[in-house]
Amino acid sequence: MEFDLIHRYFKTPFGELAQANPDSVLLGIGDDCATLRILPNHHLFTSTDTLVEGVHFFSDDPPSVIGWKALASNLSDLAASGASPLGFTLNLSLPEIDENWLAGFSAGLLDIATRFNCPLVGGDTTSAGSSPLKTLSITVFGQAPAAHRGFNRAHARIGEEIWLSGTPGLARLGLLLEYQKRGYLEQRCEGVELSQIQALLAATTAQLQQRAVSRLRMPVPRVELGLKLRGLASACLDLSDGLSGDLAHISNSSGVSAVLFQSSLESMWRNCWPEIDQHADAAQLLKTLLMQTWRGGDDFELCWTAHPKHHSAIQSLGDDLTCVGVIETGREIWVQSPSAGRTRVASLSYNHFAEVPN
Ligand code: ADP
Ligand code: MG
Repeated sequence: MEFDLIHRYFKTPFGELAQANPDSVLLGIGDDCATLRILPNHHLFTSTDTLVEGVHFFSDDPPSVIGWKALASNLSDLAASGASPLGFTLNLSLPEIDENWLAGFSAGLLDIATRFNCPLVGGDTTSAGSSPLKTLSITVFGQAPAAHRGFNRAHARIGEEIWLSGTPGLARLGLLLEYQKRGYLEQRCEGVELSQIQALLAATTAQLQQRAVSRLRMPVPRVELGLKLRGLASACLDLSDGLSGDLAHISNSSGVSAVLFQSSLESMWRNCWPEIDQHADAAQLLKTLLMQTWRGGDDFELCWTAHPKHHSAIQSLGDDLTCVGVIETGREIWVQSPSAGRTRVASLSYNHFAEVPN
């Protein structure tokens, strides 16, 4: 029965993708171990992530979205290391066999696996016992030439520039829109913050709302960008917990300060939402948006540091890459405003053991 299930939802649908990669997948689903081959003179990169129902996804999220996001977060870790995908394994712990859920989940997973040519090569399927919640865990494998050591967080150096891809905070905006739709907003935000967020959500265009929700639900890991940053970036990470907390990882590991320019962060948002300046309270809206950038998780955009000599080479990699700051001495995160000098930014990131999930 269990094997029948694995065949139906994983071995059969993913078979073609594994067969399309005969050089890397020597043996896939069905045996005790999968066998992967990596290119000569390459190193193996691996990362794992777990998603828990009610914490990382809503119980009523479409299962295809859950499947997409589960692999997206792992591929994003490869992107942040400059590694190319080889394959992944999937561990599922389910309270019951829900065929509709499994079919949707498998379809979303296959969608992103095909898009990034990352075959499913094995896994484990177990009962959740008395827990009513689904848990899923993915381990991804990737490779990079041995000469590329990854972009360690300890590699940021004084004088380097800080870059962001896309618009970190957009997924958080999508989350706030989802909270509002579900009537949770008042419960999740309080006081002044609540009124600022309500004003922000009311000002957003339908197009921005759609992009924000799609970024939350189906983030696109920056695998291509990660490969292009080889030889250019020093330290790099993917933004999964909010810019303030994620930058703190670079600051702590490298023993440096990160100074971000408020004007650069604002132009990043203006690129994403050009109509914002039509609002009389655009300055306040931008302030609220920057707060979401500091806090917001789930964007899976990249943040990296690079020597200024690489500035134009990096800029030419894409029109949604923004140089937002510099690395200086110290161990803090600062934001530099054109009029009010520097302010220290505390870590506002999501902490699993500090916030109680619903
Ligand atoms: P074993 O007991 O030897 O670990 P299992 O019965 O757990 O084997 O799994 C049988 C085969 O199915 C193995 O090749 C395993 O990798 C694969 N498999 C099990 N669950 C999954 C899953 N959720 N996704 C992909 N492959 C799976
Ligand atoms: Mg097993």
